[in-house]
Amino acid sequence: MKNILDQSFEGKRVIVRVDFNVPLDEKFNITDGSRINAALPTINKLLNDKARVILMSHLGRPKGKEERYSLRHIVNYLQKLLGVLVSFSDDCIGSSAKKAVSKLNNGEVLVLENLRFYKQEKLGEERFARQLSDLADVYVNDAFGAAHRNHASTSTIASFFPSEKYFGLLLKKEVDSLEKALNNPEKPFTAIIGGAKVSGKIEVIKSLLEKVDCLIIGGGMAYTFVRAIGGKIGSSLLEEDKIDLAKSIIKKSKELGVKLLLPVDSVNANDFNSDADIKKSDILDIQDSYMGLDIGEKSINIFSKEIENSKTIIWNGPMGVFEMSNFENGTKKIGEAICKSTVNGAFSLVGGGDSVAAVKKFNLEDQVSYISTGGGAMLEYLEGKELPGVRAILK
Ligand code: AMP
Repeated sequence: MKNILDQSFEGKRVIVRVDFNVPLDEKFNITDGSRINAALPTINKLLNDKARVILMSHLGRPKGKEERYSLRHIVNYLQKLLGVLVSFSDDCIGSSAKKAVSKLNNGEVLVLENLRFYKQEKLGEERFARQLSDLADVYVNDAFGAAHRNHASTSTIASFFPSEKYFGLLLKKEVDSLEKALNNPEKPFTAIIGGAKVSGKIEVIKSLLEKVDCLIIGGGMAYTFVRAIGGKIGSSLLEEDKIDLAKSIIKKSKELGVKLLLPVDSVNANDFNSDADIKKSDILDIQDSYMGLDIGEKSINIFSKEIENSKTIIWNGPMGVFEMSNFENGTKKIGEAICKSTVNGAFSLVGGGDSVAAVKKFNLEDQVSYISTGGGAMLEYLEGKELPGVRAILK
């Protein structure tokens, strides 16, 4: 991988695809700047070199030019973080973008307007990518969160920089962490997959089965598996059409000698809200009108023991409805077990929007080895797919 740390970019116009798709409140204040913070190492490296740094990103899902999705809203935040002049171009291509770039001095930053104000961005259109490339001498992709997209700024643009294209430090760290876990894992290797539905994670489960020693399945998706082994799951989440698939995954795990752990007990409610009546039960015997919303204590103990004996851990998806305090315990305790194992030397990788939200909710973010900034991109990587944003740089 071509590393920006091995080069100096002094005086060069460097266009960096970042992922500044941050949440904003109704007054356009940034409510969680993690994604901007994650891009700082790359930006600071380029500023230390005295490069002219041009940042491009998408924000939200605008339908044409919508002011509320303008990247103008992040400029002050970024300027405060960087302590250098950050200017803004109200177009990402064309004469005004060119003019703004021409005014840029070494060691300064320019933010381009939202790429998705042009539909050509998502279409990966070549002409649009060329117009972006006209602004710079060097292309850096640091947007891991968008690396699974075949868009103009994440993929097409790279071909206009045949020898001057690089991975940013964040993207490199993400890919290195995933590679470390997937291709060179210290054993035992455990994957914990949770969340609402089996359907969204089938490919990940299939691909991980080939690599792990132990696969733990929790969250809403576990109930389809429980049903597949003949359990009574009441009104818990069920994907009828995935029961056979669950059976085949159980069979495959046996053939491969992978330990597949399902919950053995469940915390159930008679309604999907935190004031509902709660009954705990064996996982195979949930009362008819009750739904399983969290894993029970016995499951927590079994899963935690396995996690604490593991040397490589991947976690994607919560163990229950962690957003409601009555059903957060399983996710919290599993998070804590991962942290404990990490303190004892395991490499732990957490990713996927909801697991990251859970890790943050329980203040565990400093205690795991790596938190991925890109849920969708991480899932596709775990599925064994090559990401267009990665392929475009390596080509
Ligand atoms: P996903 O996006 O598939 O990772 O699913 C995350 C969501 O799954 C979270 O919002 C959780 O509240 C939800 N979830 C986890 N466990 C359950 C469950 N047992 N029943 C219903 N929803 C669940």
